[in-house]
Amino acid sequence: MPSSYSTDIVIFGGGVAGLWLLNRLTAEGYQAILLERDRLGGGQSIHSQGIIHGGLKYALHGAFGGASRAIADMPRRWRDCIEGNGEIDLSACRVLSPRFQLWSGAGLGAGMKVFLGSKAIAGKTEPAVPEEIPEILRGRGAVYNLPDFVIDSASLIEALAAPHQSRIHSIGFHGSADSENCIEFTCAAACRELILRTTGKPLTIKARRYIFCAGEGNERLIELAGLLLPRCQTRPLKMVSVSGTSLPPIFMHVLGEGLSATPRLTVTSHVNSAGETVWYLGGQLAEYGTVRTDSAQIDAAKSQLADLLPEVYLNDLRWRCLDINRAEPASPEGRRPENASVSAEQDIIVAWPTKLTLAPVLADMVMRSLREDGIEPRAGPNPDLTVGRLTPGLPGPPPLARPYWN
Ligand SMILES: Cc1cc2nc3c(=O)[nH]c(=O)nc-3n(C[C@H](O)[C@H](O)[C@H](O)COP(=O)(O)OP(=O)(O)OC[C@H]3O[C@@H](n4cnc5c(N)ncnc54)[C@H](O)[C@@H]3O)c2cc1C
Repeated sequence: MPSSYSTDIVIFGGGVAGLWLLNRLTAEGYQAILLERDRLGGGQSIHSQGIIHGGLKYALHGAFGGASRAIADMPRRWRDCIEGNGEIDLSACRVLSPRFQLWSGAGLGAGMKVFLGSKAIAGKTEPAVPEEIPEILRGRGAVYNLPDFVIDSASLIEALAAPHQSRIHSIGFHGSADSENCIEFTCAAACRELILRTTGKPLTIKARRYIFCAGEGNERLIELAGLLLPRCQTRPLKMVSVSGTSLPPIFMHVLGEGLSATPRLTVTSHVNSAGETVWYLGGQLAEYGTVRTDSAQIDAAKSQLADLLPEVYLNDLRWRCLDINRAEPASPEGRRPENASVSAEQDIIVAWPTKLTLAPVLADMVMRSLREDGIEPRAGPNPDLTVGRLTPGLPGPPPLARPYWN
């Protein structure tokens, strides 16, 4: 059995970024494999709220420039893929809600109308008609439809991974801290090689480009590859989920104090394995809640919901917290980046989408970087990697992650 292979591209990380890229690369004729150290989607992607944003946040800041134009086009690009007419096939990805709404809360209706009518926002939202408004919000404040919609993250990961089972490989020990010990980069005659020690005999892989799409794990990969830049920053969240049979499905931002760009609360609705509705709560609650204990955070969530939706019966529900980091390229004073980020050094590309929504933009950026460096798909099949067969010497794909409330 040979113990060394060559391929065009090795992707590290099987979240939305790595999997979307694998789909784009193979569609354009590149030979690519993806290595995942844990479960597919098990980093940020499965825990995302699944909102495909249309860029209202940028408009709120009054800056509708390049990055915001890119995000404004995302709902259309994702919808095309979900309808089977896009750059990749996401027809197996489930849409949880075709619309996402902005609710003023009970007291702010008039203020929000003035605000949404402002020049920056005009044309990007429209008032919801009565039948689009969830019953528990009717007659209380103003409700607007955003261009956003909501997908089921678990079905997204499954749809992205399904066609590529022979190209996706588990290289880890499912969450063990030792996972990276199996990865080594060597550099001989200006040509980098990857040595993997996942099973018995070491396996050497030679690629034209190594692409790091490992979220928070990029930091360690950057170190292992001997790069000094880019740096990674993490911004923590303390999300809350609440499940029960009595909860109606709702999908909305609740506008924050002073009409701030970060919503007071962001609610998406999911279904758990017991068939109950799960409200997944983010926004300011999750950003400011990182300093709270789980029980204090659950109390904060209960008091927000009691204040906003007093008629919802909050007893007999199951509450859980999730501490999780958003992983991004470092920016001055830890500010949130506005766009996907790709940086190339020698034969390594480090990539962060910064939002699930921006996975298509990230793939565009990587494709552009490859073409600029003259990395075109090979003509003809690579005898080392026979499509449809697992790369010899590498394990099969890891299992799919499951939402934490299951
Ligand atoms: C709570 C929460 C809610 C969010 N909601 C939204 C939303 O509604 N809409 C939106 O647009 N964005 C949202 N985001 C942001 C979005 O989830 C992320 O930007 C996106 O999922 C990042 O994808 P990724 O593939 O880069 O990283 P990840 O999903 O973190 O995937 C990285 C993968 O790399 C693997 N890995 C790590 N190290 C290695 C290694 N050494 N070798 C191989 N594999 C490795 C990990 O196991 C993981 O599977 C949310 C984020 C959070 C945390």
